[in-house]
Amino acid sequence: MNITFYGAAGGVTGSKHLVEAGDKKVLLDCGTFQGLSDVRERNRSLPFAPDTIDQVVLSHAHIDHSGMLMLLVKNGYQGKIFATKATIDVAQWMMKDMAKIERQDAKYRMKHKFGAPDSREALFTEEDVEEAVKRFEPVEYARRGGGWKQILPNVKLKFYDAGHILGSAITVLEMEEKGKVERLAYTGDLGPSGMPLLFDPQVPREEITTLITETTYGSRVHDPLTDAIEQLAVAIKRVVDRGGKIVVPAFSLGRTQVLVYLVHRLTDEGKIPRFPIYVDSPLATNLTEVHRKHREDYDEETWVDFAKPGHDPLAFRNLTYVQSSRESKELNGMPGPFMVISASGMMTAGRVVHHLKHTIEDADNAIFITGYQAQGTLGRRILEGDKSVEILGGRDQVKADVFLFNEFSAHADSRELQAFAEGIKGLKQVYLVHGEAHQADDYRAQIKEAHPEWQVVQPKEGDSFSL
Ligand SMILES: [Zn+2]
Repeated sequence: MNITFYGAAGGVTGSKHLVEAGDKKVLLDCGTFQGLSDVRERNRSLPFAPDTIDQVVLSHAHIDHSGMLMLLVKNGYQGKIFATKATIDVAQWMMKDMAKIERQDAKYRMKHKFGAPDSREALFTEEDVEEAVKRFEPVEYARRGGGWKQILPNVKLKFYDAGHILGSAITVLEMEEKGKVERLAYTGDLGPSGMPLLFDPQVPREEITTLITETTYGSRVHDPLTDAIEQLAVAIKRVVDRGGKIVVPAFSLGRTQVLVYLVHRLTDEGKIPRFPIYVDSPLATNLTEVHRKHREDYDEETWVDFAKPGHDPLAFRNLTYVQSSRESKELNGMPGPFMVISASGMMTAGRVVHHLKHTIEDADNAIFITGYQAQGTLGRRILEGDKSVEILGGRDQVKADVFLFNEFSAHADSRELQAFAEGIKGLKQVYLVHGEAHQADDYRAQIKEAHPEWQVVQPKEGDSFSL
């Protein structure tokens, strides 16, 4: 048996891990590289022949795990794509959205003769998304009675809750080669415990010798979520009391639904006043609908908080989901107080940029930063305290209050990652993926000290190992 790391090895994005058992090949995730300027080149082709892959398992719908599936199918992949039911529904929206952006970007490249002539066309289209969607095959979570699913004559699959976003799963493979049986677990992205809406990550019950684990926050310990929720309430109250507007840049998938849930709960508890709240992202609105469809994946706490009949955690009286761009523009002229949650999360594009343009120069207003802001983004400049920033081609003074909420992360911290690994029986080798070098380095040192008996490996892109 063999494993090769083609992405998220020495970095965070582009997850693609190829597992070989006998003459069969199973690909774990097929994600897009994101971030700096060379990524488009890296996403133009796949590092293996798609028609040599037998099956694909998708851990969750984030683009850095799913965004290359259409290219895989377009280039000759013949097998299925196994995922949870919720992931299948979420992934379709994410892939369609990506195809739309790719089409618009290609049009721009053509018009402005941007890049080499042979690189201007769209990498995939909405039709390619439809073809990829046909390959999805649902697998039930172990929590809901899902047992082993035979995906190849010598490979079985089981899914456990990962607690990261709706539908996210920990993958366990049981593989047989020449009479020898080995089990491997892959965390996908692992959530923290206590993530609103979702079940906490579940440690697989079977003996497993090999773990591929994410390390996004391999060197960080989160503050308790309860503290962050208190701080959120205080900040909201302060801005609402002075009649200000709150702009909350947030990713459409996951972060938006978590924020809606928290603001809903704070309103019900009387910790914040009832005031108008808008979710202004068509993708977020569609994804919220997918959440409603998969209430079976809401955890017990969600049911306790919103147990009243007819109650929906993602809907309440003063919350409006904005659809058309006309309604979105109307918010620009509206007096405060109100809150608008909008994409993109790093303020690089989308409707949120317009909301920032119309609010940032007034000291009564506030910007709530709730997630990671990459180098070079508008979000990063605001976060670092720049007093003057460029928005939509003009310069604006940053007078609005900037609040940072670091603890709404959808990833486990270093203690939780270690506790998860320690919960697995029979673990011998651990592969560290999906983390910037310093995060993976620190996590490696941490678990090497606690568990000298484990073989801990930090693969680089293209590295191959026999199991
Ligand atoms: Zn993710």
